[in-house]
Amino acid sequence: MTILFNTFIIIVVVQVCRIHGFPKLNSCQQRYKYYTRSDWEALPASYVTPLVTPVPNVVIHHTYKPDACTTHQECIQAMKSMQAYHQSLDWGDIGYNFCVGNSGDVYEGRGWDVKGIHAGPANGVSIGICLIGDWRVNQPPEDMLEATKSLIESGIEQGYIKPDYKLVGHKQVMATECPGTALFNNISKWDHFF
Ligand SMILES: [Zn+2]
Repeated sequence: MTILFNTFIIIVVVQVCRIHGFPKLNSCQQRYKYYTRSDWEALPASYVTPLVTPVPNVVIHHTYKPDACTTHQECIQAMKSMQAYHQSLDWGDIGYNFCVGNSGDVYEGRGWDVKGIHAGPANGVSIGICLIGDWRVNQPPEDMLEATKSLIESGIEQGYIKPDYKLVGHKQVMATECPGTALFNNISKWDHFF
């Protein structure tokens, strides 16, 4: 009975997706809401370097600061503050390709096809995903972790990430404590961790 009910729900969701398109869900297969640069009112990038895709690596970050965001408005503020700070460093734009909030909402940073500034020598061969917050001690919420995994899957499906990609934490390519011990221990159990 449970299986039948679950199947029924899945069929209904798929049909609703087909009919309505869910503008904030860029694909019904993805289990996260997606917010574009215009959704969070990003400033224009002052310069853009194309990224050669598909990339062979995904680099995971935390922000340390700003703090974790639990509401859409807090996440938008976090995105704006990071963009302002990174532009003040003459990075041209927010450094990361994507950021994820506590509830699992995904915010477009530079996007899939622009080279980020987030991991030194790995910038040109990776997508950088930032889990907003300080994840040294506290584990990120499950929704945030699942959305991050779905985002990577989406990158593979769209041809931006190689199917045999390597997953690394920032500290594996640079001297930093990023992405924080708790998050690093978590991603070290994921598929593709290198
Ligand atoms: Zn980092």
